[in-house]
Amino acid sequence: MNPILELTDRGFFCPPGDFYVDPWKPVDRAIITHAHADHARPGHRHYLTTTEGLGVLKHRMPANSQISAVPYGEQVNYNGVTISLHPAGHVLGSAQVRIEHRGQIAVITGDYKTEPDRTCTTFEPIPCHLLVSESTFALPIYHWQPQSEIFDQINHWWKTNQSNGLASILMAYSLGKAQRLLAGIDPTIGSIYCHGAVEPLNAVYRDYGIALPPTQYVSETARDAKSKKTDPQWSQSLVIAPPAALGSTWMRRFSPFSTAFASGWMTIRGARRRQSLDKGFVLSDHADWNGLVASIKATGAEQVWLTHGYSATLARYLCGIGIEAKSVDTHFTGESGSSDPELTSSAPEPQESAGDS
Ligand SMILES: [Zn+2]
Ligand SMILES: [Zn+2]
Repeated sequence: MNPILELTDRGFFCPPGDFYVDPWKPVDRAIITHAHADHARPGHRHYLTTTEGLGVLKHRMPANSQISAVPYGEQVNYNGVTISLHPAGHVLGSAQVRIEHRGQIAVITGDYKTEPDRTCTTFEPIPCHLLVSESTFALPIYHWQPQSEIFDQINHWWKTNQSNGLASILMAYSLGKAQRLLAGIDPTIGSIYCHGAVEPLNAVYRDYGIALPPTQYVSETARDAKSKKTDPQWSQSLVIAPPAALGSTWMRRFSPFSTAFASGWMTIRGARRRQSLDKGFVLSDHADWNGLVASIKATGAEQVWLTHGYSATLARYLCGIGIEAKSVDTHFTGESGSSDPELTSSAPEPQESAGDS
């Protein structure tokens, strides 16, 4: 009998259903867990995503891409295989893919986070026999504080910068993290400006109905400043930009400023120092160690395949508690997104360049 799922050189493939999940080479039928660059690639003949994720995926894929969408939980049938998409809590529209064939159930999580947030539907563990789970932050040192505490820290940093006459430049992945920050910070502190990689995604989120505070596109304001029409008070403002903007000439206009990065990698002090950031806020769109272990156990899976990050460490741990687990070699990168503009060469360990964090 065919396996329900196998890993090929194009990505995860379901032989009886004849479709792929997040393939990295062009295929006929691709189911996409979410629109980060290491999961959603251009060139497939047909895409399936969630209704919530449709706007974001369209924004990221070439204009002529053929993309269908289904609501969370609704079943689709490909060649007798039942497919449904379930919330992953990672970014707007992010999904886990549930595949059922002849009583066997496989679930591919894509990237996920367990703490609820206002910008996307909350993750739920899906019972299955075979689970493919991400493991980006699968070390016990990765233990997230409640996000409300992190937002308090960010608000405090912004206010302190204001009194010191410094602009506050906050680095964040442009899809997901930037919007989560906007939804969580206190917009009464001052004006908020966004980099050109971030602002169009804010619009996609707002179009879907996610409430975000007012933001202004930085390029426009810079033009205005040149023509002396307006002179933005950068020293009172918060600027949200992708990590790739760090150290660029684009940033000079804000001088003097303080820089910070909101990412799970900021747990590691050296990561902040290596990038010469003034501040690091530990806020991730991935599950931490406890979140991963609890979520995997909650699925009741007998077999677990691990992708991204510290998969070997988590595989050892799971085997130790009686769950058959192994790392599998994919092209998923974990935190920043290979062809993404947001990828910097200086991102911290373990994979410096791929999708989001
Ligand atoms: Zn992602
Ligand atoms: Zn990923």
